[in-house]
Amino acid sequence: MKAVQYRTVGAAPEVVTVPDPEPGPGQVLLKVTAAGVCHSDIAVMSRPAESLPYELPLTLGHEGAGTVAALGAGVTGLTEGESVAVYGPWGCGTCIKCAEGKENYCLRAAELGIRPPGLGSPGAMAEYMIVDSPRHLVPLGDLDPVGAVPLTDAGLTPYHAIKRSLAKLTPGSTAVVIGTGGLGHVAIQLLRAMSAARVVALDVTEDKLALAKTVGAHEAVLSDEHAAGKVRALTGGLGAQAVFDFVGVPATVALAGAVAGIEADVALVGIGGGTLPVGFGTLAFEVSVAAPYWGSRSELTEVLDLARAGSVDVHVETYSIDEAPLAYKRLHAGQIKGRAVILPQS
Ligand code: NAD
Ligand code: ZN
Ligand code: ZN
Repeated sequence: MKAVQYRTVGAAPEVVTVPDPEPGPGQVLLKVTAAGVCHSDIAVMSRPAESLPYELPLTLGHEGAGTVAALGAGVTGLTEGESVAVYGPWGCGTCIKCAEGKENYCLRAAELGIRPPGLGSPGAMAEYMIVDSPRHLVPLGDLDPVGAVPLTDAGLTPYHAIKRSLAKLTPGSTAVVIGTGGLGHVAIQLLRAMSAARVVALDVTEDKLALAKTVGAHEAVLSDEHAAGKVRALTGGLGAQAVFDFVGVPATVALAGAVAGIEADVALVGIGGGTLPVGFGTLAFEVSVAAPYWGSRSELTEVLDLARAGSVDVHVETYSIDEAPLAYKRLHAGQIKGRAVILPQS
């Protein structure tokens, strides 16, 4: 089968032919219908060899959807042809965090060598993929897999970050979204669906700001050296109640801190290497700063339910599997509007 692999440190991903996988006991084989392209893959492919946590070659794709193609020994409860989405942050399934459905925070994954698909295990950017357990599959039903597949990460990750701050997003409050790409443009829609907050979105180009407005941002502000002052002015000088940074570089992390009002939550979701010092007098009083990772299994079901209700509409650009390297190139250049999705069967 064809697969999109990161094979050589520092080189672009390649489309190669690899053996068709077969499901072992307890596993499920999916015929992949759609695989999302996440900026985290670019972060992985930008790391030097000595700090790369995965072995190469690595089949990319940690946002996956497919139809059930074959069941490994002992797997029941799924029917062939059923349309499913893959919950990506695989854990051990039995520790206290996994028992809560928070496999993203599994206490034993590192020790047991359990890796998410596309981030250590073979991922979804291939004609077929192996899913380690039927527990990682969520039925899609009638949801279009192409529009739904980004929800497994670009939806789930902001959903988790927003949910933990919902109590602060009362009527009259302001939520700030920095970076309106794959995750950010979904975050804006989730904020509108889940809260009464006024949403202020920031990005570096006019077309990204236009997308932010299209998907529901009340205000769109250019992310430059004047941004903090402009966002503060929009909040009557008081700052926002919640700030979500989907870039995470030093400049945006500083911006996130600067626009956080008293008792605000700041979620640093982007992995751009920025850090935000916390200490008396560095931020407004009692600001909480967190760097969350992905989301829980039940949260994925909730996000898909929001899509089913029509509250979230991911803007997708589709690419064939042969065009996957081009999709990464465009993502790296900031040229994707919404989320790029690879269609391995086309
Ligand atoms: P993306 O490329 O689709 O979106 C990033 C957006 O940020 C783009 O629209 C870009 O124009 C904008 N941007 C760049 N510099 C900016 C600046 N200085 N100010 C404002 N906007 C700026 O990327 P994505 O796939 O949405 O991922 C976003 C980030 O989240 C990445 O760092 C990714 O690695 C990370 N991520 C983290 C998690 C997690 O669990 N913590 C999960 C998924 C992705
Ligand atoms: Zn991701
Ligand atoms: Zn666990």
